[in-house]
Amino acid sequence: MKKDTPQHAEIIGFSVIDGCLAVGGMPVTRLAEQVGATPFFAYDRALMSARVAELRAAYPKDVHFHYAIKANPMPAVVQHLARLADGLDVASAGEMQVALDTGIDPLTISFAGPGKTAQEISQAVAAGIVINLESPHEMEVAADAATRLGLRPKVAIRVNPDFELKTSGMKMGGGAKQFGVDAEQVPQMLKRLSALPLDFHGFHIFSGSQNLREESILETQEKTINLALELASHAPRAPKLVNIGGGLGIPYFPGEQRLDLKVLGDGLENLMPRLRQELPGAETVIELGRFLVGEAGVYIARIVDRKESRGQVFLITDGGLHHQLAASGNFGQVIRKNYPVAIANRMGAPASEEANVVGCLCTPLDRLGDKVSLPRAEVGDLVAVFQSGAYGLTASPAAFLGHPPAREILV
Ligand SMILES: *Cc1c(COP(=O)(O)O)cnc(C)c1O
Repeated sequence: MKKDTPQHAEIIGFSVIDGCLAVGGMPVTRLAEQVGATPFFAYDRALMSARVAELRAAYPKDVHFHYAIKANPMPAVVQHLARLADGLDVASAGEMQVALDTGIDPLTISFAGPGKTAQEISQAVAAGIVINLESPHEMEVAADAATRLGLRPKVAIRVNPDFELKTSGMKMGGGAKQFGVDAEQVPQMLKRLSALPLDFHGFHIFSGSQNLREESILETQEKTINLALELASHAPRAPKLVNIGGGLGIPYFPGEQRLDLKVLGDGLENLMPRLRQELPGAETVIELGRFLVGEAGVYIARIVDRKESRGQVFLITDGGLHHQLAASGNFGQVIRKNYPVAIANRMGAPASEEANVVGCLCTPLDRLGDKVSLPRAEVGDLVAVFQSGAYGLTASPAAFLGHPPAREILV
């Protein structure tokens, strides 16, 4: 049988110590003792730092990176990335507070997302962060808050482009969308904006996420830059910020390959001269969530039962979809595929059986791995689900079935 998961751990950069998966240099068996309970998410800060360093080495020096904290809003993670990245992107007043608590310059925080309430917009104006306006209504609400507070907030317009990010896991632009302002409505909105107590800051054009095709990402970036330049000619003044989106994916499923950052960086370098020449004062930003944190996290659950049913082995863990919904296949996947899974304390052992790894919830949806080739595992062993650093704990239905929440640790 194939022994593919230990390799997977090594590709990402995790080490294995005496046959046990290590996060931040600590074997997860010992981390389990330190945490005091399973299940838990363990995040490796050195791997996050490495991702940022790789991006900076591959991309043009004048392209900046923001962390979209909805991918993993654990305050310690956000603190760590606040020091590494050039800014933070938030999508609620709650996330805004986590971002502000890091102490970074509020002007490097931007607030996107549909359905911002008047209260949230007013909080953002008071905080002095950049507000990405998703509609003409939000613009009027921001202007009212500005007048009331005697402040002149920096606002960017989030544009719903007239193109899509092709072959993307999740499309968030193009066609009819709840996100942003249709590109063709933006000139009119800019005209109105110039009459309001708002400081026009730039454009935010985000087309989608979880993309693993370099050509698609570059093609979209080219269209995005063209659109930003076109719209800039309608602006009350030259934009100071052009957020060209993100969308860099990570491989979750068998056969998927990691992105080639050199191809992406060189490709964007070829697109930058026009932007530099036509908008010399504008900062170019790429916003990334899962790419910065997804691979740095593992979800660890303990096997509490092992049984056979009509010829199949079931490893029943104390974890499940209430902590790691995405790995169960119920967070936007059409056909269920396995995240990379391993027996964390038997990393050196060869695969010797096919097992189904399931959670403890009383629903057939609660599966963490279908027919995975694994070394024989027993009650008490630890299961590791890789690629769990993003959209894990906070993207899962924690209250479903009333089990305790997962712990989190940054090592
Ligand atoms: C969700 C989101 C992101 C992060 O997406 P990833 O796939 O995690 O990189 C970035 N920007 C916006 C506007 C988002 O909504």
